[in-house]
Amino acid sequence: MRIVLLGPPGAGKGTQAKVLSERLKVRHISTGDMLREAVKDQTELGIRALTYMKAGELVPDDIIIALIDDTLRDTDCSQSFVLDGFPRTERQAQALDKLLTVRKMPLDMVLYLNTSPEVSVTRLSGRRVCANCGINYHITNMQPKIDGICDSCQGSLIQRPDDKKETILNRLDVYIQQTTPLIDYYQRRGLLKECSGDLDVEALFEALKSLFEEKGLLIA
Ligand code: AMP
Repeated sequence: MRIVLLGPPGAGKGTQAKVLSERLKVRHISTGDMLREAVKDQTELGIRALTYMKAGELVPDDIIIALIDDTLRDTDCSQSFVLDGFPRTERQAQALDKLLTVRKMPLDMVLYLNTSPEVSVTRLSGRRVCANCGINYHITNMQPKIDGICDSCQGSLIQRPDDKKETILNRLDVYIQQTTPLIDYYQRRGLLKECSGDLDVEALFEALKSLFEEKGLLIA
């Protein structure tokens, strides 16, 4: 099973990708997570990516395509995966097609989480992340038991630098300019399935489950 999750920042791609990867027992590939890890470890990739990420801009295609090419070589991803945050440009989508054609493993579905800008902004501006284990919280929708402390590992909760208001607006703009053409791209290939990203986590998962059922696939 090879799936792409498409939608603006704040659509819930990361949350849904985690659940889907657990339920379907497939690898969750998040370019955002990989880049944040590289920034934390101060690798060459992280150092190159940081300026773009801080500004809410996309990291150049060549860097990201090379990262995905490397990741797909990993045996864990050789057959099945949920891609979250990639592709984000038409060039990335074309590169993905090529990489998957060579491996004779075409995509099965592109799940488009159609989300209103208001919902995206509210989710992103209120998001807090554990600096230690990366679990997400929200200042109103998903509060920790103790303010500022992760329920799971007691790490400190922080705001991602790119979740500051000015950067959020730029990220949404970048999404509209560079990523929305992919809706058409995958529609033309008959791969696109759409549902509302404005739904809460459980309702959205149920909606995604129905899309899988339409394809004859049951999620336990
Ligand atoms: P995300 O966590 O998916 O919102 O990604 C955080 C940031 O990482 C983005 O704002 C970009 O700067 C960068 N990034 C993640 N995925 C990509 C991608 N496919 N292409 C370019 N930049 C990316």
